[in-house]
Amino acid sequence: MRSKIVAGNWKMNLSQAQAQELCREVNNMNIGSGIEVYIFPPMLYVNECQMHATHVKVGAQNAYPKDSGAYTGEVSMWQLQEAGVTAVLIGHSERREYFRESNAFLKEKLDAALAHGIKPFFCCGEPLEIRENGTFLEYVKQQLEESVFHLDGAAFKQVVIAYEPIWAIGTGKTASAEQAEEMHAAIRSWVEEQYGKEIAENTSILYGGSCNPGNAQSLFACENVDGGLIGGASLKASEFAVLVAEETWTILN
Ligand code: PEP
Repeated sequence: MRSKIVAGNWKMNLSQAQAQELCREVNNMNIGSGIEVYIFPPMLYVNECQMHATHVKVGAQNAYPKDSGAYTGEVSMWQLQEAGVTAVLIGHSERREYFRESNAFLKEKLDAALAHGIKPFFCCGEPLEIRENGTFLEYVKQQLEESVFHLDGAAFKQVVIAYEPIWAIGTGKTASAEQAEEMHAAIRSWVEEQYGKEIAENTSILYGGSCNPGNAQSLFACENVDGGLIGGASLKASEFAVLVAEETWTILN
């Protein structure tokens, strides 16, 4: 059975004291049974959060694919592994846009993460113009083909996919449950074509994009939505607590 996951992407937010406090609050939340919770703090706070998080997992928002060398400002997957970090975000639209990360580069990152035993949360999703011109399925399929589908089945099993339509990230405009389900079902069918039914059925596919206590229930109730990658609402303990709570997952299921 695939994992249900709620992951908080804190992005470049919070002071050290605020991060400590939020980590403590998330760790003490009443988490629904069978739901795995991850937090992705700014890199500077990852180590400290790891020391205090006993009920939730802590990942990094980014890492570089080379192990070591003259890459000023970067942190490698190897260094994450050394530090005991077990998950990493790869392919977030903000990295694709502001740091020009291409599908080919993301493929390198994915390979490096897996080589170091770090679970990749691979983000994909289309910009607004692609949604509007109707080619969003092809667009996301290409992202997966160029960055992910070279993996063999054993490696792919480690990957969590997060579908995040760019037009919904940080905009307050969420994909409808129908829009999310259409994409998630398509992603699962491509995974099945590539890796077979068993792996497809066991792949966690998260939704991300203005997911909040007001819309999470209908999104999480979709057959092919296995949880969420949460930005804004992960910074507010009261909102994140609703997303990880049993009721949010059970009432509609
Ligand atoms: C994100 O950045 O991964 C995200 C989903 O952000 P938000 O929830 O704020 O739209």
